[in-house]
Amino acid sequence: MVVINSIFVLSCGISIVTIRTELEALEVEQLAEYAAKSCDSRGRLRAESPDVIRPSFHRDRDRIVHSKAFRRLKHKTQVFFSPSGDHYRTRLTHTLEVSQVARTIAKVLRLNEDLTEAIALGHDLGHTPFGHAGEKELNKLMPGGFNHYEQSLRIVEVLEQDRKGLNLTWEVRDGIAKHSKGKDGAPLGIELSRRASTLEGQVARVADMIAYVNHDIDDAVRAGVIGVSDLPVRLLEELGQSSSERIGTMVSDVVNETLASLPDVELRMSNGTLNALLKLRSFLFEAVYENTTATAEFQKASDILGGLWDRLHERPEPFLDKRTIEFEGMDTAVCDFVAGMTDRYAVETYERFFIPRPWVSLEAGKAEV
Ligand code: MG
Repeated sequence: MVVINSIFVLSCGISIVTIRTELEALEVEQLAEYAAKSCDSRGRLRAESPDVIRPSFHRDRDRIVHSKAFRRLKHKTQVFFSPSGDHYRTRLTHTLEVSQVARTIAKVLRLNEDLTEAIALGHDLGHTPFGHAGEKELNKLMPGGFNHYEQSLRIVEVLEQDRKGLNLTWEVRDGIAKHSKGKDGAPLGIELSRRASTLEGQVARVADMIAYVNHDIDDAVRAGVIGVSDLPVRLLEELGQSSSERIGTMVSDVVNETLASLPDVELRMSNGTLNALLKLRSFLFEAVYENTTATAEFQKASDILGGLWDRLHERPEPFLDKRTIEFEGMDTAVCDFVAGMTDRYAVETYERFFIPRPWVSLEAGKAEV
């Protein structure tokens, strides 16, 4: 039996329809004309047989969830370094909230939810330990610079599966590569070269910002870095008093504006809501991300990464990947290793390298008399 263009062809020459081909046909029937269809994907980096059950974007989503880099997000900082409370976001829960917001928008616009979710779940895989402080430090250390979205792409294309990569479809990789906005970038309406080619990728980009602006305010209030009374009153009046109300306002705005703009194929947001969202982000940068109290521990985090960077260059074994050292150089091998660390693994490794362990007597264990 062989598989040709999503249909099983038995050795006797008879073709049979698979569950996947039925699901692909449902996509064509039910999704909007402007949605990305699995059967029209530009394909993978390496050719491989399609799955019997899952269309390609669904398969990509599953590959991301099963990746090691995805599991590590659990112990990576979102905003607050290793907070003691159980209710603070981590990079993993941020990712799940982005995925939820993105799926809601995709569902209402009749876009491909599997593709949207795959991009949302994969967008932050390349984040360093210690959040943006870690990214800033690695950007200084790595010749040529470093940013998390390029590293997310490197993880899915090269590093996962013992350097075989996840072999994801072009559309998922395109969405991951173009999700980042930085401090001043707009979530939508950007020039074509920086815009995801699919609407699903554009949804993941705007959902990232809707999610983090709202949950970071929630965490900053929880942490006592800001009080509810510090939040800009006019913006709350416009967007909603609670996180839930604000997310609802933003999601409805994206959906309504985009539907009103059809047959254009660009994600839209009204000027009023977009400006309010951007102002809320500016407020967060000033009051939280660059707040000296909230970021006091981050200087130490930067020192840890600097120390690890130097020591790993001196002592690459047993930590670094020999193939990366040979083909791409020591800096890239160190950068991959450090960027992949969770917060706690970075601290543990730093302690192992630089902090002397308490002496344990050789006689320990013998009964004292
Ligand atoms: Mg993100």
